[in-house]
Amino acid sequence: MSGGNKEVRFRGIGVSPGIAHGALHVVRDELDDVLRYHIEPSQIGNEIGRFESALVQTRVQILEMQQKIAEAIGAQDAAIFDAHLLVVEDRTLIDEVLRRLEAEHCNVEWVFQEVATHYAQTLSKIDDPYLRERALDIQDVTKRIIRNLQGKAPKPFLAIGKPHILIAHNLTPSDTAGMNREIVLGIATDLGSRTSHTAILTRSLNIPAVVGLHDATQKLETGQRVLLDGYSGLVIVDPTSETLSYYGEVQIKKGQVAQALRGLRETTSTTADGRHIVLSANIELPRDVDAVGENGAEGIGLYRTEFLYLDRDTLPAEEEQLKVYREVAERVRPNPLIIRTFDLGGDKLPAGALDVGDELNPFLGWRAIRFCLENVDIFKTQLRAIIRASAVGNVKVMFPMISGLEELRRAREILEECREEIGGGAGDKMEVGVMVEVPSAAISADLLAREVDFFSIGTNDLIQYAIAVDRVNERIAHLYEPTNPGVVRLLKMIADAAHSNKIWVGVCGEMAADVALIPLLLGLGVDELSVGATSVPRVKMAVRNLSVPECQELAANALRLQTSSEILVRCLELATKRYGDLLG
Ligand code: PEP
Ligand code: MG
Repeated sequence: MSGGNKEVRFRGIGVSPGIAHGALHVVRDELDDVLRYHIEPSQIGNEIGRFESALVQTRVQILEMQQKIAEAIGAQDAAIFDAHLLVVEDRTLIDEVLRRLEAEHCNVEWVFQEVATHYAQTLSKIDDPYLRERALDIQDVTKRIIRNLQGKAPKPFLAIGKPHILIAHNLTPSDTAGMNREIVLGIATDLGSRTSHTAILTRSLNIPAVVGLHDATQKLETGQRVLLDGYSGLVIVDPTSETLSYYGEVQIKKGQVAQALRGLRETTSTTADGRHIVLSANIELPRDVDAVGENGAEGIGLYRTEFLYLDRDTLPAEEEQLKVYREVAERVRPNPLIIRTFDLGGDKLPAGALDVGDELNPFLGWRAIRFCLENVDIFKTQLRAIIRASAVGNVKVMFPMISGLEELRRAREILEECREEIGGGAGDKMEVGVMVEVPSAAISADLLAREVDFFSIGTNDLIQYAIAVDRVNERIAHLYEPTNPGVVRLLKMIADAAHSNKIWVGVCGEMAADVALIPLLLGLGVDELSVGATSVPRVKMAVRNLSVPECQELAANALRLQTSSEILVRCLELATKRYGDLLG
């Protein structure tokens, strides 16, 4: 934080370009504050449903904890949780909550907190050690039930009707996916980094965003006027008139660049010396397809289908998935649609449908292909829908988080089973690829390349795993360096393995959208770049201004350099020379 005459500046990481100016709405970690809000009589049934499912979820969590403790230290110690289970089943408590819900028409976490606190206080005042213990149990279980309830609650801040700049401690991808940029003018968060899925979504939605502001939510108040600069990662409270006029000029300049970029829509993504680089778009939601053509992309290089699961309570059935995939494939044909099978887990935990449980290291956990290979029914439902959709367009399929040949072969076997079940040669021409995003896959890319039709490099994960830097942790965001020599060597190994086996290689991680690094990727031999649709024009402009030999020379030099910053400096030199306006 820094202060001028009047204005106060908070510095974070700019993750979605643009400038927003307006009134702030602050959402502190809502799991700590139980807010009270009115519920329409028609919504009471829904509140009861949330309460019931939070009780079931709490019961399951307590039983799991009990079992772990019984295994680790013995059944006797695990018996202390019997008292917690009694709280979840306590009829007096539950009935009182239901009665007050009907009488008071407010949200169930508020009612539950009131009733449980009152109940615990009454018990703790009675001069009986057993009942006093029960009061402690109630407090403990109450917190757990409220957390579970809040996990299922519609977020009240999503219902704000007036235009505002939202600042929250953290936002999940499902909170963000539903935002409307007419109302949410800008987004800021204490946590987060460039490659978190929340940040990726802000770019898809075209909402300026700044993340990694540490404790800004503690220092800001709803109603303050702020200017949010999504380019350089600033939130400026009570901006002075000088600041406002400076940003007025920035907007004019950025507008001119945007105008020039719009003119590129119908042009191809071909280097100055004539090499065509396929330029595709990444999408998260089917509605993002509009932006694919509008921004002049040649199809979809990454469809993150797991977003179909977020924020809903039932798994999409085969027919429902088929409808969505078919529509998207039809919209982009004859260009390709690369459907990535579900990459659930990591920072994209499904809100309702699937409970993958709490993991200490979700990014190293039960994620993506690992989850699908153990939930074959879910996997097959999706594969069948993809195979059937391939009849109407240029559909390709790819598997996320492949770490070696066994996983790839098992996934292909299941795909084959689905094809046979459908019959009639369905999907026999469909290309099959893998995301190379786990270091073991990169290092053994020569083995994988023989058994797939293409590679798509997921640099978001590849970098986090290669450097051991959590991609969503703002404290270590400065260590997340795509130009780390180790990363550059991995990229080279992947590209070389692909080409020696005559398959193409793309990059669909955020590195592909960083115009400073495109010369390096082209020099390493990448054939395709797939980026968020709003980044397509900038990337196209970069590609059109570069020539392959100069990129190859840069890459050869980069492979000889010893540090991330030396490599970055070289990339920036070439990028600035060719398209300085796009940088900074
Ligand atoms: C990646 O890891 O680079 C990628 C494109 O996939 P995701 O960001 O969804 O993990
Ligand atoms: Mg990934």
